[in-house]
Amino acid sequence: MVETVTRFAPSPTGYLHLGHAHAALFAVRAARAAGGRFLLRIEDIDFTRCRPEYEDAIFEDLAWLGLSWDGPVLRQSERRAAYDAALAALAAAGLTYPCSCTRKEIAAEIAAAGGAPQGPDGPLYPGTCRNRSGRGDEAAIRLDCAKAGRQAGVLEFFDRGAGRVAVDACLFGDAVIARRDIGTSYHLACVVDDAHQGVTLVTRGEDLLPATHIQRVLQAALGLPVPQYHHHGLLRDEDGRRLAKRDAARSIRSLREAGTSPAEVRALAGFAD
Ligand code: GLU
Repeated sequence: MVETVTRFAPSPTGYLHLGHAHAALFAVRAARAAGGRFLLRIEDIDFTRCRPEYEDAIFEDLAWLGLSWDGPVLRQSERRAAYDAALAALAAAGLTYPCSCTRKEIAAEIAAAGGAPQGPDGPLYPGTCRNRSGRGDEAAIRLDCAKAGRQAGVLEFFDRGAGRVAVDACLFGDAVIARRDIGTSYHLACVVDDAHQGVTLVTRGEDLLPATHIQRVLQAALGLPVPQYHHHGLLRDEDGRRLAKRDAARSIRSLREAGTSPAEVRALAGFAD
């Protein structure tokens, strides 16, 4: 039987809040219930938003909560070579193109066309640079989703809550898979590292279920193993809004400073002992 390997993959862009505690506990419990391993990955590719003090706080807050992870922590900022290799493989397969459009140009193009289909992250890119012989430097790299979808054929993924989900290769359109400033993207780094770390069960909030569509396409294009998924519900505040890093009062840190015990915070995060 395949060992169950889960991971918690926070970005150090703020203090962890109860929603993160829920996600981390969900991943730990899934691993422990199956006698498997639970890994910690720091998703710090975006140097414009990540800060070292938030990374330190992640280790401290998780330890205070009573969570321990197996093996060394993987830091995405140290994995650039692996992301570059994946990008090169996608380019060699003819599945990417450079894009030098500015946000303003994209908005103007969409307005001129009378609108664009809406994706999970906003209006879909109209494909302006797809057939341009663009310069590779100073450009973002986009995935040619239609071509990648055609090459992959029919795809699906299995979610422990939703069951079998048919993949829409173009849900995000021709998404940027390498930003010009950071040289990679969440989707690319995520699939490369889930495979590298041997993750067999990706647990994360249901807000990321759409992301699994494009991630599944990237796995197919890169020949990576496909994990199972379990997208869980999100913790919400009294008004039904999902918790975010801006809700300082619900950070694990402020709860702890207010005298809340680890067991109480675990219970607030939906995991009473
Ligand atoms: N770094 C992502 C976040 O903090 C998690 C992504 C994932 O679990 O795949 O939202």
